Amino acid sequence: MAYVIAEPCIGTKDTACVDACPVDCIHPKKDEPAHATEELLYIDPVECIDCGACVPVCPVSAIFALDDLPEKWHAFTERNAKYYGR
Ligand code: SF4
Repeated sequence: MAYVIAEPCIGTKDTACVDACPVDCIHPKKDEPAHATEELLYIDPVECIDCGACVPVCPVSAIFALDDLPEKWHAFTERNAKYYGR
């Protein structure tokens, strides 16, 4: 488990992180059907290489390294992983 997208992404889904990610591990993208129905974007915990490139580009500061994730958003760790069946 590496980086996690948390609550600030809900209703935002900006996707600047998608463009910044070098390994394409943030979904659903704008051209994927699930983008319309999912509340937020998710990081694949297996594919993520911990580069941190997505963090500064997020306009709502929704992305955290696992160690920096606020306790109140702890559940988002599982939520990100679950989207990928991890
Ligand atoms: Fe992608 Fe790097 Fe962010 Fe992981 S930390 S989701 S590899 S941009």
